[in-house]
Amino acid sequence: MRALSHSSISLYLECPQKWKFKYIDKIPEKPRHFFSFGQSCHEALEFFYGSPLIPPSLEEVMAFFEEHWKTAGYKDAKQEAEYKQQGRKIVKDFYAKYAPTYKAPFFVEYPFNILVDGVAVTGKVDRIDKVDDKTVDIVDYKTGKAFDLERVKEDAQLTMYQMAVEELLGMKVRSLTFYHLPSQTPLTSEPHDIEQVKELRQRIVTVASSIQKSQFDPKPEEWTCKWCDYKPHCPVFRHQYLTPPPVAAEASAGGLATDKSEDEILADLVDRYGKMKEQVHELEANIEDLREEILGLLRKKGYLRAFGSQYEASLASEERWEFEDRLKVVEVLKKHLLYDKVLKPSAPEVQKLMKDENLPPEARRDLEKLGKKVEGGTLRCHRISDA
Ligand code: SF4
Repeated sequence: MRALSHSSISLYLECPQKWKFKYIDKIPEKPRHFFSFGQSCHEALEFFYGSPLIPPSLEEVMAFFEEHWKTAGYKDAKQEAEYKQQGRKIVKDFYAKYAPTYKAPFFVEYPFNILVDGVAVTGKVDRIDKVDDKTVDIVDYKTGKAFDLERVKEDAQLTMYQMAVEELLGMKVRSLTFYHLPSQTPLTSEPHDIEQVKELRQRIVTVASSIQKSQFDPKPEEWTCKWCDYKPHCPVFRHQYLTPPPVAAEASAGGLATDKSEDEILADLVDRYGKMKEQVHELEANIEDLREEILGLLRKKGYLRAFGSQYEASLASEERWEFEDRLKVVEVLKKHLLYDKVLKPSAPEVQKLMKDENLPPEARRDLEKLGKKVEGGTLRCHRISDA
């Protein structure tokens, strides 16, 4: 089995099916600008720390940054230019902060391979600084969003680096740092404790064992799936990318032979049904927003109708009553012997009652005291042209 890295373990835990697409089926993901950006900054800092005694000049570091800038994954030239400018600032600020007291690290981009209970684990530590003959500090650069110290205290990536460094170098880790490059902020924690190490070891073994058993079930989560490049390949989203096969309809109607099992057909139908319901909800919400907007504009302009190129919308104004305290409404209805008339005092039934010219004046007065008259309107819309 291939060696596991921190990112591949995280990916498996996020979605085993996604892990399979990436590492077994070897379907490449789209390049992402934030990876290119991070790599460009990392490489410039690696170059900065590449000299044993004195640092390269700022001009040399900046020239390296420009020459090794990674271009993949940016939306357009404008976005790339903005990020490049941010990268230049990061490298310049880092240089200004650390060049005057330059000390070459113990290791830069330290690659490691270890065995954790028989599972091969691999990775690369951005920087290891020697404290003395027995201790080191570990530093990992981050270029994304800001984070807090809690993350540094708990992040399994740092636990893994600590494990690897202590095992391979035979030295104790004194501190663990995530260095946030955009703000030039180092956040440092004590070494992670034995429980965190045990927990990580257990996680590595569990993930490795699941992979060996070919457990690659999809784990759909709204946010993860939203950004997943493998959606067109994923069984969960199959209905969005394939025209439903005609056999599915036949099979559901009469159980005809098909190359899909009935369970698979059922799963397809359930997914399609769920998806359509979601779309209907979404459409309903959009229609309601549009209705409110049109009604608002019609009222503002004092119009009763308005025309689009293909449709006409007209406003039928009406007043309606809103009651907050349903129990008091029921009491009033009972007092005036109207409860039976309404039977189920739902809002539409009470509205009907309020419009009824035969409603006794005392009952109307009592109900009006409980409610609030609001201006409502029915929006009718019909097609006026096929164009
Ligand atoms: S679309 Fe969702 S469920 Fe499918 S592979 Fe991607 S993350 Fe996993």
